[in-house]
Amino acid sequence: METTGNAKDYFNIFGAMSNRPSENHVTHAVATTLHKNPVLTQQLLFHLTEIKSTNIRILKQSKYKKAIFDLVLTDCEEFYVVFEFKIDSPIGKKIEEQDQLDRYLSILQDRTEEQRLFFFVSMGSPPSKSNEKVRFNTISWIELLLFLKSHKGDNEIGQFVLTDLINFLEGSKIDRNLTGGRRMWKCDLCELQTNGYDIQNHKRKHVREYSEQFDEHYDKKRQEFEKIIEQYIPAINGIKKEIESLQKIEMKNFNVVESLISALNAKLPKSMWIYLISQIKSSFSNMAFKKLNDIIINQLHEEEILILVEPRYESATYEKILQLKQLIQRL
Ligand SMILES: [Zn+2]
Repeated sequence: METTGNAKDYFNIFGAMSNRPSENHVTHAVATTLHKNPVLTQQLLFHLTEIKSTNIRILKQSKYKKAIFDLVLTDCEEFYVVFEFKIDSPIGKKIEEQDQLDRYLSILQDRTEEQRLFFFVSMGSPPSKSNEKVRFNTISWIELLLFLKSHKGDNEIGQFVLTDLINFLEGSKIDRNLTGGRRMWKCDLCELQTNGYDIQNHKRKHVREYSEQFDEHYDKKRQEFEKIIEQYIPAINGIKKEIESLQKIEMKNFNVVESLISALNAKLPKSMWIYLISQIKSSFSNMAFKKLNDIIINQLHEEEILILVEPRYESATYEKILQLKQLIQRL
């Protein structure tokens, strides 16, 4: 799983937010949030299934035989957990939906993982199904929302996408159906109040202000970042040089990372480890790098270390600016 990423990844979610949400949008928003939050993903999997794993692959709109599963969490070996998202109501009463569920369950039976689970996520009264080999479960959106709200993101970016997913779920039809009402939103630039899809329309009027704020914010963040990093540059360069002098690190010689981790321990604050490893990525094979990243993330998360994230600039269209503005507010 990826842990840090480019700003552009965030915006896929917001593309989804600007229109009436569909199941694809929700799937995308949930998948992106899990991708950016590997530890949260582990907690969610454990919460729902009691499966403990640090090796979770997140598959979106995954094709298997004649099924396309909205979201799959799997280690490709022991467990294969499918999520099917429904946002339209009434739920599961339609015959074609029932047929589709039956078909999906029978397709899932053929998989070889020992634990095969199916979660039907919906608002209404859930269908009940039984299948000998596949555990069928239903959860409501409100349950998922409550879980998300009681957890935090793995790092700054993770928290950012998590908060947006929560806002998205709360602001969309999903939550209105649950609460029976709409929330008012107040523009912090001109104090106008509106709700629903007018929020995005209104924000578009302030593109220039948002853009200027973003530039200022980016410059400031960049300077702060460079100031923090400055005193560690010799240490970072030393570790980089050491790693580059070795042969490429792959799974077969992965044990050399032990000395890397003790060098990190001796020379750099833990908040900087993720930045450091992003600098030495090319000395690793993809798999070895992913493993190193997972090890470090788990350790940092256990110790509740805040991770220093390098600010990145994305030249922004108005939609991106709007979302960057939201990021600014949360920092
Ligand atoms: Zn305004």
